[in-house]
Amino acid sequence: MHNATIKSLAADLAARKFSSVELTRHLLSRIRALNPKYNCFITVDDAASLKQAQAADDLRAAGRAGPLTGIPIAQKDIFCAKGWLTTCGSKMLSSFISPYDAHVVEQLNGAGAVNIGKTNMDEFAMGSSSETSFYGPVRNPWNADNVPGGSSGGSAAAVVARLAPGAIGTDTGGSIRQPAALSGICGLKPTYGVVSRYGMIAFASSLDQGGPMARTAEDLAIMMNVMAGFDARDSTSLERAREDYTGEIGKAVKGLKIGLPKEFFAEGAEAGVTGAVAAAISAYRKLGCETVEVSLPSMKLAVPVYYVLAPAEASSNLARYDGVRYGHRAQDYADLTDMYKLTRAQGFGQEVKRRILIGTYVLSHGYYDAYYIQAQKVRRLVARDFAEAFRRCDVIMGPTSPTTAFRLGEKVDDPVKMYLNDIYTIPANLAGLPGMSVPCGFDGSGLPVGLQIVGNYFAEAKMLGIAHQYQQATDWHLRVPPGCEG
Ligand code: GLN
Repeated sequence: MHNATIKSLAADLAARKFSSVELTRHLLSRIRALNPKYNCFITVDDAASLKQAQAADDLRAAGRAGPLTGIPIAQKDIFCAKGWLTTCGSKMLSSFISPYDAHVVEQLNGAGAVNIGKTNMDEFAMGSSSETSFYGPVRNPWNADNVPGGSSGGSAAAVVARLAPGAIGTDTGGSIRQPAALSGICGLKPTYGVVSRYGMIAFASSLDQGGPMARTAEDLAIMMNVMAGFDARDSTSLERAREDYTGEIGKAVKGLKIGLPKEFFAEGAEAGVTGAVAAAISAYRKLGCETVEVSLPSMKLAVPVYYVLAPAEASSNLARYDGVRYGHRAQDYADLTDMYKLTRAQGFGQEVKRRILIGTYVLSHGYYDAYYIQAQKVRRLVARDFAEAFRRCDVIMGPTSPTTAFRLGEKVDDPVKMYLNDIYTIPANLAGLPGMSVPCGFDGSGLPVGLQIVGNYFAEAKMLGIAHQYQQATDWHLRVPPGCEG
């Protein structure tokens, strides 16, 4: 059961081969056995998950089951889920039981999906390694000495370790795609505004976007059909007609024009990564695709621009954690100001504090024009580069990450090195474009490599179809990390 895709689990549930309660019990027992090793989950609640599974079985008995009914889905602990501890990987929220559901969670619940647990992540989604969590680092199932990527590393590790067939994550600068690549699964960051941010704990609101993580592109499409949609409670949610994201699954890719940005292939990526990505692009050529070189000249500015804008928005968003309304509150303070100071000093970890300091600085009087306004202007240039490139191609391809999974501790004390890991993913966030990662091989040490596909606005269905064709021709996504076969 645990190796099956969402699509095949749905078929088996429909054929009554097993019930959602049986499936959920099976995955919970795997989580019990493997989670101590990988630390993918912050909260597992057998009773709550099984109650949802029973409700899903009842729904099916009543003839009202849909494609996600009874399917266990892991939820990054950034999504508010009613009655569940929702920590965002932070001590600040280590006692926060959410009184409401995020829009995405509401949609999943409405479809009859089962919340199989809340996954570990970098604190407030700030990081690329899932090491900054208050709950300790997540380990990569392909090699437990290595990171799974981040910030949605718990979701990625859970999916590849076969603890859940799918998971939800969020991507502000790469946090769905990069852990998907480093862990060997698929992940999609939709066009900004397609998935509601309501109830998704805010990091950098103009960049944050929720999305699905699973082992196949087809499963991502099935999840998107439930996750996407207009929600008036998110002011940047897009009001569009409902779309079937599975609509282009099975469509041939012959004649497709793939843009290869020369900046994605300049020096900087490891040989194991460039080798696997080049092989994937040849596979597309064999399927009848054409390739054209394109250029994203502003890409070199994307990381510095992101590290002005994201901390600026974070410093504003995280001002709400003041110990007054909810979350951690310091004991033994002298007065109100002292309470604020102690609460924030104790509640936030080092990386979060670093971002708040940078953000407060770039927004301060006298620096605002020089940094924040300037960064907003360069952001436009990045979007313009993509628009230019899409006049010459249908989709863009390249590596998702310049490296495969690095060792725990290797970059955590060197923020600039850590930040550069997102060099290929950040541009799509700045432009609001959809991007995804698909497993495309392994490096010399047996660590997975991800192929990134970036599409034009609302090209998700097309991208998923393109990725599906590749997965039909390859079996990278079927490989199971040693120790997870079980
Ligand atoms: N690694 C990037 C950061 O630290 C992106 C994180 C994300 O997408 N949430 O900000």
